[in-house]
Amino acid sequence: MLSTLMNIWRSRLFKLTISILLLTLSVMMFADFFKLRGDVDAGIRDARKAMSEALAVQLTVLAGSGNEQAIRQTVDAFVTRSTDVGAARLTTTNGTTMAASGDLNQLSTDTESTLSQMVVPIFQNDRRWGEVRVAFAETQDLAKQLTYFGFIGISCFVLYLLFLRKALNQIDPSQVVPGRVNNAFNLLSEGIVILDTKLQVMLANDAMGRIIRRTPGDLMGQHIDEWPWEFAEDQLAPWRIALEDGGTYASQEPLTLRTPDKQSRRLIVNCAVVGAGEDEKAKGLLVTFDDMTAIEEKNRDLQDALRLLKHSQVSIQEKNKELEALATQDPLTGVNNRRALLARLATDFAKSMREDRPLSVIMVDIDHFKSINDTFGHVVGDDCIRVVANTLAAQCREYDLVGRYGGEEFVVVLPDLTAQQAHEVAERMRLQIADAATNENLPLQEMTASLGVACTDSMPDDYMALIDHADQALYAAKQGGRNRSIIFDSRVTKIKPEAGATAEVESDRRSQKV
Ligand code: GH3
Ligand code: MG
Ligand code: MG
Repeated sequence: MLSTLMNIWRSRLFKLTISILLLTLSVMMFADFFKLRGDVDAGIRDARKAMSEALAVQLTVLAGSGNEQAIRQTVDAFVTRSTDVGAARLTTTNGTTMAASGDLNQLSTDTESTLSQMVVPIFQNDRRWGEVRVAFAETQDLAKQLTYFGFIGISCFVLYLLFLRKALNQIDPSQVVPGRVNNAFNLLSEGIVILDTKLQVMLANDAMGRIIRRTPGDLMGQHIDEWPWEFAEDQLAPWRIALEDGGTYASQEPLTLRTPDKQSRRLIVNCAVVGAGEDEKAKGLLVTFDDMTAIEEKNRDLQDALRLLKHSQVSIQEKNKELEALATQDPLTGVNNRRALLARLATDFAKSMREDRPLSVIMVDIDHFKSINDTFGHVVGDDCIRVVANTLAAQCREYDLVGRYGGEEFVVVLPDLTAQQAHEVAERMRLQIADAATNENLPLQEMTASLGVACTDSMPDDYMALIDHADQALYAAKQGGRNRSIIFDSRVTKIKPEAGATAEVESDRRSQKV
């Protein structure tokens, strides 16, 4: 009930009715003020004048007879009998009051007659003798005025309301659209407005009302340019472009509309001119608004999430690299640790077997390292280990691999090299290590290393056997006096002797190579 009343109160019909009613009442009041209806009081004035003159005649007669008491009684009777009369007084020209009755305050000193007071002179023998003054009640009091305008107000209101309701149904452009079409428009999630050629809204669906936070009825008649759009400086409204071109136009970029609650809505706008044929003039414009605000917000969130994901991917990759380095690198020297070394050797060994290509390894051990440690301390010992690792790495090709196998033992993996070629590399390494004490400013006189070379041509069963062959060759190098490199020879050094045993080394071959 209350909501129905509120709806009526807010309705355009009600507002229109009230406006026209107020206009009517104002016009009536102005007309009254300028007496355009004529002098409505003329009849009353004449009647009052006649009454007052009759009294004056009566009093003139009585005054002539000198009957003062009769004069007073006549005035009293006149005031009491006439409901319209408030007071009456008879005064002589010299100002003496001969008779007075009623509320004398109602009498004024005006010399001229008015509607509320009649002044009638009394003559005797053509000489003015006195005057009769009669005060009358106000002709139209406030209550009467209110009744008059109230009646007109209420009756006009009802009549205007009924009339406008009928008339608006004819005039309201939205009434032209059949109810079914209107309902269909309201089912669409896109905002739709139909504009006339002056770009005034003739129809807006519910979705458009929701977008702009108004009722569709409120939007009727509004000029679309007056909506709070945020255009770039030289940007033309899409509906103006469509109207000028006389066809259809779709905005590429969303337009921004600021709603009354200060929020921005991003709308893709499509416009189509209605009724523009070959020779036909445009009759209007159909404009649809696709609200992209939520999608754009979701997109932004998605972009943020993607950026975050990329960032964390990069940091995970970096962490993985660090972890891999930690897992595969030897912390002291930076070359591969034993685990990484063996893993790579296993792969290279399998590949060498598969492709029937040679694979060599060199095992390196620093000579008399214990005494270096003992003489110069562990810090210098560590420096020596680092220098040897760098020296070995410097002699390697891109696809060779150096790994720290144990305390001061290294293994170098050399794919595709025969035993002879690997031995040449080993020799270069040995000579570089021998020079390193001087070149690298180590505090010791000399540092040497022994190297054992093994190749897959010695037919190891697996990669660990290949290492073992290199180890045996290294052992032979140690036995042979250190600071030398020896190739493993299966015919001579098959088994690494126990401590104290003598290694059998093919001394001829070694002497050729060392
Ligand atoms: P050889 O010529 O027969 O090889 O004699 P060597 O004294 O070098 O004997 P060995 O190879 O057995 O010595 C290994 C020594 O290396 C034992 C250990 O104290 C030392 N060592 C092992 N790891 C490290 C390390 O990381 N830093 C240092 N400073 N010394 C180490
Ligand atoms: Mg050792
Ligand atoms: Mg050693």
